[in-house]
Amino acid sequence: MPLRRVQQHPRRHRGRRAPVTRGGVVDTFEYKRPGTVREALRLIATHPDAEIIAGGTDLVTLLRDRVRTPARLVDINGLPLDGLRWSRDGVRIGALCRNAVDDPRLAAAYPVLVRALRSGASPQIRNRATFGGNLLQGVRCPYFRLPEFACGRREPGTGCAAIEGDGRLLGIFGTSAACIAVHPSDCAVALLALDATVVVEGARGTRRIPVGDLHRLPGDTPHVEHALRDGELVVAVEVPASPFAARSTYVKFRERASYAFALASAAVAVHSERGVVRDARVCLGGVAPKPWRAHTAESALRGRRLDAAAIEAAAEAATAGAAPRPDNAYKVELVRGVVRRALTELLVK
Ligand SMILES: Cc1cc2nc3c(=O)[nH]c(=O)nc-3n(C[C@H](O)[C@H](O)[C@H](O)COP(=O)(O)OP(=O)(O)OC[C@H]3O[C@@H](n4cnc5c(N)ncnc54)[C@H](O)[C@@H]3O)c2cc1C
Repeated sequence: MPLRRVQQHPRRHRGRRAPVTRGGVVDTFEYKRPGTVREALRLIATHPDAEIIAGGTDLVTLLRDRVRTPARLVDINGLPLDGLRWSRDGVRIGALCRNAVDDPRLAAAYPVLVRALRSGASPQIRNRATFGGNLLQGVRCPYFRLPEFACGRREPGTGCAAIEGDGRLLGIFGTSAACIAVHPSDCAVALLALDATVVVEGARGTRRIPVGDLHRLPGDTPHVEHALRDGELVVAVEVPASPFAARSTYVKFRERASYAFALASAAVAVHSERGVVRDARVCLGGVAPKPWRAHTAESALRGRRLDAAAIEAAAEAATAGAAPRPDNAYKVELVRGVVRRALTELLVK
């Protein structure tokens, strides 16, 4: 099937001077490395085309392929945003905490989060990748990452080459006529199941955004990817102590046993009293433009014993509202499979 290609302009943002190109020399940008959050916010706010760089594991590939062409890079690695801070209310994870974080308390309190982190990328990438960057990484739709194809997420109003093209890896929930990409983060799916909150700083102070509200569904504005306002910086993720966090797990299905993004994944957590499920979380990854909460599956579990019949009902309910294409209809069965497998793991917890 023919795919729509777009004419590449050397630099696509807001009519700045034409830069040197890949074929010739290199793109130019300012590089700044602030030492305080205040200075970072100033550097982001005072340049209309500034971009934050943390671990750089995603952004550098986007710069290399000219998907992103910032004029100023603000390297936040000098900011005091690392580490875990525990309290009775839960844990606060600094935005610069690496995805390789190794803390036995985290594994005991939030198994779903540690399993999701370990299922991502490779050890080398996890050593570099940060929590903030993982949540805000770009989608892995091949058409988004190849500037010669139309992508309204990359360039507003240009359409979606994926819709006419190969959608095998793409979404079955929450997509639109303008975009069918899926969000690639494993960690975000686990954080959604844990009712986590993203803490952001900006010129107007501190805001807290529930992880479920951080990423936007594409609708007809796919380029509006998340709820951060211009000039805002993620400084931490707060994960509350909750009755179901300890009985939680993450199951990911992918094309290879490691070093691959989810085709479908499930983060599940269950709180039972006297053998009856009081509350549950069933969240899905690899199937929607944002981490996807399967409310219908959670309802199918509440008030029941967690047994094979309840698990089957939840697995079936998890696909409610799915709108697959012929080439990604296999994901419907994958969703049932990962939910079934994840909940079955909780039977022995
Ligand atoms: C080969 C490969 C395989 C991968 N496999 C997986 C996988 O299986 N699962 C998975 O979840 N991920 C996977 N990833 C993605 C990887 O986890 C991300 O690249 C990484 O988490 C991004 O973090 P970073 O710190 O390097 O972000 P960067 O590349 O530095 O930044 C990414 C984006 O986030 C923004 N940003 C970063 N920090 C902040 C902040 N504090 N506030 C505001 N904006 C910010 C940047 O401006 C940029 O837009 C893979 C990556 C690669 C290259």
